[in-house]
Amino acid sequence: MSTLKAVRGTRDLLPPETELWNFVEETARRVFARYNFGEIRTPIFEDTGLFARGVGEETDIVSKEMYTWEDRARAQSEKSQSLTLRPENTAGVVRAYIEHKLGETGLLQKLYYIGPQFRRERPQKGRYRQFYQIGAEVIGPPSAGSESPLRDAEVLEMLATLLDELGIQGWKLVINSVGSSSDRPRYIAALREALRDKAPLMCVDCQRRAETNPLRVLDCKVPEDQPIIETLPKIADYLDEDSKAHFAAVCAALDACGVRYDVDPRLVRGLDYYTRTTFEFTHGGLGAQNALLGGGRYDGLSEALGGPKAPGIGFAMGEDRLILTLQAQAAQQSAPADAYLAPLGEAQNAAALGLARELRRAGLRIELGDGGFRLKKSFEIGNKLARKIILLGEDELKSGILTVKDFASGEQVKVAWAELATALRSR
Ligand code: ATP
Ligand code: MG
Repeated sequence: MSTLKAVRGTRDLLPPETELWNFVEETARRVFARYNFGEIRTPIFEDTGLFARGVGEETDIVSKEMYTWEDRARAQSEKSQSLTLRPENTAGVVRAYIEHKLGETGLLQKLYYIGPQFRRERPQKGRYRQFYQIGAEVIGPPSAGSESPLRDAEVLEMLATLLDELGIQGWKLVINSVGSSSDRPRYIAALREALRDKAPLMCVDCQRRAETNPLRVLDCKVPEDQPIIETLPKIADYLDEDSKAHFAAVCAALDACGVRYDVDPRLVRGLDYYTRTTFEFTHGGLGAQNALLGGGRYDGLSEALGGPKAPGIGFAMGEDRLILTLQAQAAQQSAPADAYLAPLGEAQNAAALGLARELRRAGLRIELGDGGFRLKKSFEIGNKLARKIILLGEDELKSGILTVKDFASGEQVKVAWAELATALRSR
């Protein structure tokens, strides 16, 4: 009998890795609590119509990634119903907001969730068919201030704090405004106009998008299409005064609290319901799947789902990608240093510090020894901490030629001072 395995794109999380998952979730809960968010848990499957209306028929998610099935009626009194495993959680949260009349409190609802989502995508590093998101939404009637740019900036500042507390190093925030529902038609008209000549030169997906949903063309990742996309009209030029002022206020509030960001006029994101502010936090260590999280404002979503006017802003972070980033960082930190620099005599200490500074500034990880150590001791410590040892004595200082020994191969070479950084980088 063949053995059964976890389904493609799904996986088991085992100890000790689950400790890291718990750390991430506990840190998120702690940070959310400080911003006075409360937890919401919505069902894992919903009526298919919720996602068709709430995410958008023309999105990749709805058009090709959903797990949908026909749930058969079990009794005369029941009807069969099309159900879908949730591919994201914002639509579910807004459905719950409407269903439980949370808007009638007159207050902002600040809700967070943690849980699995399902999309039928091609599995690869950082992309799974069952993956986990940590997300939050701020939503409420306009009288509660739900449209205020301060809410956008507060959510972004919270995310910067959360990523820092998780210990994610080197994240980047990119933001954009995709305009209000009245700016969008003008921009889309201009985009359609520009695409009339250009779309035939683009990939087949873009040719289709140019007809069905031109905004999605900006999302295209095909390298050959990028120069064409550069020439398309920019949404920033189509924002009305209100949208411009809203975006400027978000940026000003971020500046005031010291959260750094870049504006990317092409950032439109994958879901149809976004208005005004959209954003992504990325991380270079993730390769092609570089988005740690994405989000934005969705002022018309509640109404699109048959609810009251309830502007909102939210985000979803890929927990799997947070974990991958933390694991990669930990692996890098526990790996041996590039070199152990051994001054041969205390007279060489000051020069050694200068050389270490130079190498570290060139991006290398250097452990600096001490000229007071005997050579044997330097070799012993160096072997524990680094892949190579650099000897810096009086002769080396005079000649500018250093001795470098590789601990693993035992090979010893002479390297000119100016070539040292390059030599250490090559393994
Ligand atoms: P991508 O461009 O990477 O496909 P997306 O625009 O589809 O992302 P969203 O729907 O905004 O992503 O989801 C928010 C976050 O959830 C993403 O930034 C990512 O970190 C994570 N995510 C999305 N799809 C997957 C997946 N299949 N596997 C793992 N994480 C995912
Ligand atoms: Mg996607």
